[in-house]
Amino acid sequence: DPPSPRRRIRQLDDAAANRIAAGEVVERPASAIKELVENALDAGAGRIEIAYADGGRTLMQVSDDGHGIPADELELALSRHATSKIDGSDLLDIRSFGFRGEALPSLGAVGRLTIASRAAGAAEAAEITVTCGRMDPVRPAALRAGTVVTLRDLFRATPARLKFLRTDRAEAQAIGETVRRLALAAPGVGFALIDRSDDAPREMFRADPVQAEGEEALRQRARQVMGRDFVENAIAIDAEREGIRLTGLAALPTYSRGAAVAQHFFVNARPVRDKQLLGALRAAYADFLSRDRHPAAVLFLSCDPQAVDVNVHPAKAEVRFRDPGVVRGLIVSGLRHALAGAGHRASTTVSD
Ligand code: ADP
Ligand code: MG
Repeated sequence: DPPSPRRRIRQLDDAAANRIAAGEVVERPASAIKELVENALDAGAGRIEIAYADGGRTLMQVSDDGHGIPADELELALSRHATSKIDGSDLLDIRSFGFRGEALPSLGAVGRLTIASRAAGAAEAAEITVTCGRMDPVRPAALRAGTVVTLRDLFRATPARLKFLRTDRAEAQAIGETVRRLALAAPGVGFALIDRSDDAPREMFRADPVQAEGEEALRQRARQVMGRDFVENAIAIDAEREGIRLTGLAALPTYSRGAAVAQHFFVNARPVRDKQLLGALRAAYADFLSRDRHPAAVLFLSCDPQAVDVNVHPAKAEVRFRDPGVVRGLIVSGLRHALAGAGHRASTTVSD
């Protein structure tokens, strides 16, 4: 083919730019739920209710009792790279879930998004709707406090993405996993997950706010999320290396499972999916478990925000540590010592 003629370079309009960003931020309904629940957590919510219908395709709604958004900032909340969480000079010191200012504009670009909110101290609530990138003017709303974000017809503007969704059941399951994972990260917050596909709403998951602190809080929340069986067959982990701390619960080798199990990692409370961390977990159990068995675990790494880069991918599920070797060593030795201490002798000598 002859080379195509060069066209002038043009600036894409906001709607197109947001739709492109949405491709990375919103892979499936569960990614939208993740962004909305993280926003609720960042807003200091004490209770969060999540509802969906038809696997999230037709409806997703997240309601919280957090600090809300003032009416005169609603439009800004929907514009790209607009955030209240960082000022741009502090990218090395991120303490909130969000910071990219991309989730709401992305969701508004690929569906019909309504944000209703009443900021703390505001006389009344207001709401704004954006439909596939087209914004309606802000209007008054009826809401006592907090924020309700409703997303309808996800991917209406991107039929290719719509076609790649799995069954409603599979998407609903992914939503459930996302909510459970975030519930583990915030034991003090109450969660309710409701399937509204049918006339009668069905409660899929509930975790009441945990009053306890520290390890006891995690135990209580893990019982709500992963079940009593796991908690009764797990040992507490608490280890440290070079300023990085590893805490959490890890299953005794006798509780291992053959099929997929819950293995949750959090870095500074942020749920992450990271092959290296999972690899370290596997290595730690290598002497205690045969290769086809998998340990359930809920593990938290905490460190100075400067020791980890959370700005690796728009979905923020990946992180990079300044020193990955230290993290791996911490996980492998921390778990091995805890397991050996619990009386589960390795078949070979335990060594770091
Ligand atoms: P980010 O979370 O990266 O800041 P978002 O697009 O997710 O970007 O949200 C934009 C802004 O809207 C947030 O910085 C926050 O100020 C506000 N916001 C979003 N959701 C909520 C909520 N549930 N409660 C209060 N404020 C919210
Ligand atoms: Mg956000």
